[in-house]
Amino acid sequence: MQFREFAELCDSLEKISSRLAMIDLLTGLYPSLSREELPVFVRFMRGKIFPDWSSKKLGFGPGLLCEALAYVIGKKRQFVISAINSSGDIGRVVEELLEKREQTLFFSEDLTLLDVYSRFLQMAKISGRKSQQGRMRSAQYLLSNASPLEGRYLARLMLEELRIGVGEGVVRESVTKGFAIPQEIIEHAHQALNDLGEVALLAKTDPNALTEVHIKPFRPVKMMLAQAGSIASMVEAHGCVAAENKYDGSRFQFHIVGDKTAIYSRRLEEMTKSLPDVTALLANATDHDVIVDGEVIAMQNGNPMPFQTVLRRIHRKHDIAEAADAISMQPRVFDILVCDGETLIDRPFSERRAILESVMKEFAAPQIVSNSPEEIEHYYHAALDDGNEGIMLKVLDSPYLPGNRGKFWIKIKPEADTIDLAVTGAEWGEGKRARMFGSFLLACQDENGDLLELSRVATGIDDAMLAELYELFQDKIIAEHGKTVVFKPDVVFEVGYAELQKSTNYAAGYALRFPRFIRLRDDKDPDEIESVASLAHRYCTQIKACQ
Ligand code: AMP
Repeated sequence: MQFREFAELCDSLEKISSRLAMIDLLTGLYPSLSREELPVFVRFMRGKIFPDWSSKKLGFGPGLLCEALAYVIGKKRQFVISAINSSGDIGRVVEELLEKREQTLFFSEDLTLLDVYSRFLQMAKISGRKSQQGRMRSAQYLLSNASPLEGRYLARLMLEELRIGVGEGVVRESVTKGFAIPQEIIEHAHQALNDLGEVALLAKTDPNALTEVHIKPFRPVKMMLAQAGSIASMVEAHGCVAAENKYDGSRFQFHIVGDKTAIYSRRLEEMTKSLPDVTALLANATDHDVIVDGEVIAMQNGNPMPFQTVLRRIHRKHDIAEAADAISMQPRVFDILVCDGETLIDRPFSERRAILESVMKEFAAPQIVSNSPEEIEHYYHAALDDGNEGIMLKVLDSPYLPGNRGKFWIKIKPEADTIDLAVTGAEWGEGKRARMFGSFLLACQDENGDLLELSRVATGIDDAMLAELYELFQDKIIAEHGKTVVFKPDVVFEVGYAELQKSTNYAAGYALRFPRFIRLRDDKDPDEIESVASLAHRYCTQIKACQ
């Protein structure tokens, strides 16, 4: 496939709003793609370059992209930045600027889809002192051989934001339909392999193997998630349920085969190097080859420390041994996905739990099984008194569903008016904070995952956090207009508020009264932020509470 064809397809998809028409367009293409092209194409369609389980990163932010483009069109970096500032859409700016340049110099080589992928692979592999230069050269090569339309999508792919309105569901359905395979088989294989590209390849080359796929060690799968609910309705629906503490720490997935170990975060980033103590504790606890799911909490003098302490430890790059002495990190393991080569996710939770207790011993998170709302209520209050966030209730005969936020896991915690939102921009501060971001613009999402702004937050951020946020957002700046900065929206804040109000000032139709920063949720992906539908629900509940 020529990259030109890929870009034309993206352009067509961008103009289509019907889901079915999108699926048909994709389905019609599959027969013409080779074995090598198919997985790459499927990932690219979702704006992803590497499999979801992979820790590989392109390492290319908006800043480097501007520099590469400036070189290719023979202008100053500031010229590109000004163009982006007045448009806000990097893809379109790349297209326009390549268009102007095209009149003087034609692009030379035709790019194929696989050329682009192999350049991306090279960019991700480069490490060390000269890595920036190496990445820049690859980006310059790609942009200088791209037509204007190709440039639009190359730029968006490099920033992993394709913006063509094609979500994961559309691509998955197109694979189901394109290769005539039942949806549940595709979904199950996708959960275990955590790479829709590889699932599509199997569907094309060996469809029978799709029912046999297993979770593989050192290829993390998405974590199962929880919904909010109540003790009474869980007991009423299921009778006996399992109750566990809801730990206020950071989620992990631990893999061990023989002497080889790895630990992954909720965003599936490998954190083995930053958590050597936790990795060693878990490795020493078992003689089995396992993949287990749990939460790591920070303890000091026997007391649980706030969640932020856990994140700081995880992000620490230097002096990890000293940090490990000061704060002890304690793993609590609550599920097992694989044991000695056997995939367990389809077995009932009660069976997985029995295996977990026998192989992880003291690290298995304590649990009670009860059908008494009073007993569970009591357990809940004890959990809060011990400094936990609340409790989790789990259905005993439920499978483990990677990536699913379903009704099998229910979280019970005090009504907290906090909300997870994506950070879409900021304003530079004033006075002594002039070289920091002073306030941040926040957004929720609609049902298509599009972002809708609803608040600004400036309160509750101390100087240390402001400095940390300044560092974090440095390479996420897409555009700047005067004091306002637009960010690539891949950071999540948890914010508190006093009241939710209807508002015409923000696209979401709501605004937060007295918003305050609670914490950085860099364990969460932006697709996990609050939806407008749940905002509407919060609004109704709030009105009822006031009546
Ligand atoms: P939330 O982040 O509020 O959606 O709550 C779900 C999170 O609670 C999970 O992703 C885990 O990180 C965390 N958690 C803490 N304790 C448990 C537990 N016992 N079982 C499952 N998840 C837990």
